[in-house]
Amino acid sequence: MKILFHRSKCIGCNYCVEQAPQRWQMSRRDGKCVLVGGRLKGTMHQADVGEEERESVERAASVCPVKIIRIAR
Ligand code: SF4
Repeated sequence: MKILFHRSKCIGCNYCVEQAPQRWQMSRRDGKCVLVGGRLKGTMHQADVGEEERESVERAASVCPVKIIRIAR
């Protein structure tokens, strides 16, 4: 599955980091989170992740208050 992440809209609340620290880390540089293993495609950061991460990344997507994390199957 694939994670799509609209980083420029991140408000730096840290909720996704708490749910899936293997995938999101907070940047000290700009206070937004970083998608670990992600690459920028257009305006979105994308990462391919295995099924074993499904539960935690879906949790991260659901707690994001600005809804900028999308999981594509
Ligand atoms: S939960 Fe959403 S707004 Fe909060 S740090 Fe993560 S991506 Fe950014």
